Amino acid sequence: KNIAPYAIEPFTDFSLPENKKAMEDALAKVKTLLGRDIPLHIGSDKITTEDRIVSINPGNVDEVIGSVSKASQELAEKAMQTALTAFESWKKVSPAERAEYLFKAADLMRQRKHEFSAMMIYEAGKNWPEADADTAEAIDFMEYYAREMIRLSETNEHRPLTKVPGEDNKLSYIPLGVGVVIPPWNFPLAICVGMTTAAVVSGNTVLLKPASVTPVIAHMFVELMEEVGLPAGVINFIPGSGAEVGDYLTTHPKTRFISFTGSKEVGLRINRLAAETAPGQIWIKRLVAEMGGKDGIVVDETADLEAAATAIVASAFGFQGQKCSAGSRAFVVESVYDQVVTLVEEKTKKLVVGPQEQNFAIGPVSDKNAYAKILEYIEIGKGEGRLIAGGGKAEGNGYYIQPTVFADVDGRARIMQEEIFGPVLAIGKAKDYKHAIELFNDTEYGLTGAFFSRDEDRISYALEEIHVGNLYINRKCTGALVGAHPFGGFNMSGTDSKAGGHDYLLLFTQAKMTSRKL
Ligand code: GLU
Repeated sequence: KNIAPYAIEPFTDFSLPENKKAMEDALAKVKTLLGRDIPLHIGSDKITTEDRIVSINPGNVDEVIGSVSKASQELAEKAMQTALTAFESWKKVSPAERAEYLFKAADLMRQRKHEFSAMMIYEAGKNWPEADADTAEAIDFMEYYAREMIRLSETNEHRPLTKVPGEDNKLSYIPLGVGVVIPPWNFPLAICVGMTTAAVVSGNTVLLKPASVTPVIAHMFVELMEEVGLPAGVINFIPGSGAEVGDYLTTHPKTRFISFTGSKEVGLRINRLAAETAPGQIWIKRLVAEMGGKDGIVVDETADLEAAATAIVASAFGFQGQKCSAGSRAFVVESVYDQVVTLVEEKTKKLVVGPQEQNFAIGPVSDKNAYAKILEYIEIGKGEGRLIAGGGKAEGNGYYIQPTVFADVDGRARIMQEEIFGPVLAIGKAKDYKHAIELFNDTEYGLTGAFFSRDEDRISYALEEIHVGNLYINRKCTGALVGAHPFGGFNMSGTDSKAGGHDYLLLFTQAKMTSRKL
């Protein structure tokens, strides 16, 4: 089969009437699907339980998105046994054939793009462009990892081993086994799809434990994979609590790897639990962890200040700041500090908060706990900086918070150091660009960052000195594209597993060398 080169899925322009109409239609259609019972998927069994996760619309808390069956430890064990059995046959399916399922799923998702986005608008509180980008990224991950698996399987042609006379030497990337996939709620389609399909196309079988705030969109993906004929047991869908099901599977002797995206606290806990060897376990579990960030933007006095302020606001408040890539800090040099602060203030005050069905710039935050935590940080901020925009709750039947900006914040302040994961930006003043970069680097995280300047020498300095996994020059620090901006961070941001990059599938495979005497 001739496979076209990978191309990034374009975003939808909702200013065009036909696209706006298409999204409105999708929202209406998906609305009729809300409130359903969602079962577990274990092999070909659909299992309904008494115990439920009730997913609600964070922007309209009376709207139920779905009532999702919850796995117990017993069901998690059943899923593990099913995945172990499925692995024995799935690992023998050729890489090209495995990739074919992803190509098919990507095609179907593209056809129903707005329906997937609509579900995220309801369940995650994304506005239209944010949801559209999430769906586009999910499509990208499938298209990209499918091609990557094919490429890996042809590694002997692309990167032959050193020839030794009288020997035929080969390297092949074989799967690991059963993996536990724990995706986040903030990219409830893209990252869920990326993590799951990377593992699966590599020949593994998985236990997918979706985020508890967004299980319904995850289920839509699971149904899609069923529709394209992915063999039963390759993806098992087991919503459940982290403490019960998550810990059980993390410590399970048959778990071969864990792929996690979420908070630092949970990531470190998984790392600790996974490091213990359970009785009967015959491997070191592999952990792929994508954790938090305290990302930001550095602006020097030569920069295009207007563009810098636009990028600061976009990075801080896109999807209410609920991205691990979000620019929750900005450091600006003294001589242009007041100017940039004023521009940021003006641009922030233009952002209107409201329900995402109607596509407001700023929607709700994810859930009750996040809402309380972010409001608490805003109170802390009031003691640590000068409040210049927002500062508390916003109107609405949901978890709405005003986009909030604090200026004159010290680099060591809590709101400069701790990940808030909400619409809160802290701005600090620096003596010069080197000082600004020093302030920027003074964090335990290292995920994304951006540097604004027109000076080539300073840009070179920044490229070398700013210690993050994803560094951007003269643009925002969010919105990494699959294939173009492999994504993953340093230090407490995780294992620097570059999602959407050429190295990613190596994390879900092991290389077997075979040497045959001729
Ligand atoms: N890849 C996303 C971006 O570049 C962020 C992913 C995340 O928040 O986990 O904005």
